[in-house]
Amino acid sequence: MLDQIVSVFRQADEPAERQELAIAQYQSLKKQIPLLYLILLANAWTVAYSYLGVGSRLLTLYVPGAFTVLCAVRFVKWTRQAGKVPTYAEARRMLAGTTLLAGLLSAIFVFWGLALYSYGTAHMQGQIAFFIGITVIGCIFCLMHLPRAALLVSAVVNIPFVLFFAGSGSRSFAAIAVNVALVSIVMMVILSINYAAFASLIRSRRNILVKQAEMEALDAHNLWLANHDTLTKLPNRHSFLLDIENRFRELEHSSDHLFIGVLDLDGFHVVNDAFGHRGGDQVLSEVAQRLLASAEHSFSVFRLAGDEFGLIGTTPWGSSNEMLERSEAICAAIEAPYRVNDVTARITATIGLASSATVSGGAQQIHEAAEYALINAKKSQKRGHTNLFSFVHQDTIRRHSLVEQELQTADLEDELSLVFQPIVAVATGTPIGFEALARWNNRQLGCVSPAEFIQIAERAGLANRLTCVLLSKALAAAVAWPPQLRLSFNLSMQDICSPDNVLRLVSILNNSPLDPKRIDFEITETAVVGDFDQLVTAVTTLKALGAGISLDDFGTGYSTLSQVNRLPLDKIKIDRSFVTNISTVSTGYKIVKSVIALCRDMKISCIIEGVETQDELNTLRQLDCSLVQGYFYSKPLLAGEINDYIERAGAKALFNAVPTSPAIPLDTPQCRSPGARKTSRIAAN
Ligand code: C2E
Ligand code: CA
Ligand code: CA
Repeated sequence: MLDQIVSVFRQADEPAERQELAIAQYQSLKKQIPLLYLILLANAWTVAYSYLGVGSRLLTLYVPGAFTVLCAVRFVKWTRQAGKVPTYAEARRMLAGTTLLAGLLSAIFVFWGLALYSYGTAHMQGQIAFFIGITVIGCIFCLMHLPRAALLVSAVVNIPFVLFFAGSGSRSFAAIAVNVALVSIVMMVILSINYAAFASLIRSRRNILVKQAEMEALDAHNLWLANHDTLTKLPNRHSFLLDIENRFRELEHSSDHLFIGVLDLDGFHVVNDAFGHRGGDQVLSEVAQRLLASAEHSFSVFRLAGDEFGLIGTTPWGSSNEMLERSEAICAAIEAPYRVNDVTARITATIGLASSATVSGGAQQIHEAAEYALINAKKSQKRGHTNLFSFVHQDTIRRHSLVEQELQTADLEDELSLVFQPIVAVATGTPIGFEALARWNNRQLGCVSPAEFIQIAERAGLANRLTCVLLSKALAAAVAWPPQLRLSFNLSMQDICSPDNVLRLVSILNNSPLDPKRIDFEITETAVVGDFDQLVTAVTTLKALGAGISLDDFGTGYSTLSQVNRLPLDKIKIDRSFVTNISTVSTGYKIVKSVIALCRDMKISCIIEGVETQDELNTLRQLDCSLVQGYFYSKPLLAGEINDYIERAGAKALFNAVPTSPAIPLDTPQCRSPGARKTSRIAAN
């Protein structure tokens, strides 16, 4: 109990808590102090009235009059504070003033009462004792939220009161004084308990407010995290998607146009491989800074994913060129070299840009168009630049959706077929095997090139369905070939990126009489850049059956030599873009030469694709190339033409050991090969 009482008179430890407590005390006293003055005046004037004409005028009129003025001034001062929230300094000043004044006024009141005592009769003296007792208890009650003042009032009143009445010679008065003093002490104890409860209430209210503020700060932080990327501090994909919707809605009733850009860094994974994730992060942060600086007046910048950023801009009608220029300026800013660990790194940025001026539909359609323009730029020669979505792209998309629709509903067993292009040993001119190439003759669209429909099937998630049909057909055809001939079969990215799809292929192989050792699965180089670990698993599964693995279109993707080295490859196929005009274009020559050397070092075979002319073949012979494929030897053949081809090639080889072109029949059945015209040219030579 004593501890509790002492703690009440000690200031709170926490300065902030102390401040809040002082303000709360002040707020409570604001309501109680005016009442205190009313009690004082009522009590004083009751006594003065009783002593009027008995006591001196000074004591019965002037002193209570002066009280009244003083109390009225203080009353007004306190009532004026209603509704005002004071500062800590104001509250402290008021509380200190009130404590002092309480001590002073109690002293004046008690000595005034005691001074009047001598004038009165025994009854009137009893009224003085009653007046002092009731007043001190009333004051303690009203000062319950300012214990220091209550204690001061109690001491200032009770000490002279008890001493005076003890010396008055009246036992009753002495008893009353002692009684009032004891009641005051008990009142002080009650007051201290109440005050402790009051202080604790204020403290817990403060704690709740602090917790609330902390929660709000945490909420704000979480909100920031949900909408921003922590590395670059740029708004993230979620913000991007929200922003394009909002901006589109805002522009619906204006002539301004919305531009959405999707930016992808070229060669960033090489930086990551070379400098580790720390170096990669450093480059990404710098890219973000450059984007913000170069897009400052044209686009808002977002980080969408790894090395993909988003741009949103608005511009008046007709300024597509201006936005294109600004977007190109962004590409140029990204292209400048980066310093990572004192080494210079280089990357470029490709941007797909689309605007509401050319794309009909909503924000989502413009976004999809920008993504389409980006993919398109990556595939074409627009890497490192901006590809603005145009009406031509729109037509392509329309065509793609038509093809996709037909692919979804087509009877694939019936409409898909295969042609086979020989892979020829340069030394003998005889085929070592055939590559199966898909053909699709659709009842609505007619012949669709595999370069077109395979890609669309991949994007629509239909590629594995096609592969399963084609693989069964290819295996059925290859069973009829002489046993030394191999079957090369193209796999899509989708076939290998899912374990289920790989299992489906394994099951088809297991159900075929063709020995899997006679099969080479061709995977494109772009697949290497995808989920590499899954690729390794898929390749290992197929190799376990005895099949070979060829890396197709080598040189067109972005695989690194370390990735190529980690794959258990049997063959690398060099893309035909390096072979075209190899005799005159020195870059192609050098690349082919080094890849042939690389294959020799890796102890794997190398096939050169797309050999069309005698000149190209002669150059490749000089480079000691052993296997080729191309129109020079043969266009893709129907299954029924293969035996004839083998016979002719064998006979030629027996007599000449030179290429069999152009004696091979080259007439083009429907959907046989998109390159048929070129083939005819060779035939005519
Ligand atoms: P690819 O795997 O690189 O196949 C070679 C392509 O080059 C074939 O085109 C072939 O007809 C063509 N070609 C062969 N020699 C020459 C030549 O000397 N000059 C020229 N200009 N072209 C030549 P095709 O049949 O149109 O196939 C295009 C692409 O479609 C293939 O490229 C392959 O990526 C894909 N593809 C074809 N069939 C399938 C398949 O069954 N499955 C999968 N996943 N993709 C396939
Ligand atoms: Ca191929
Ligand atoms: Ca190829």
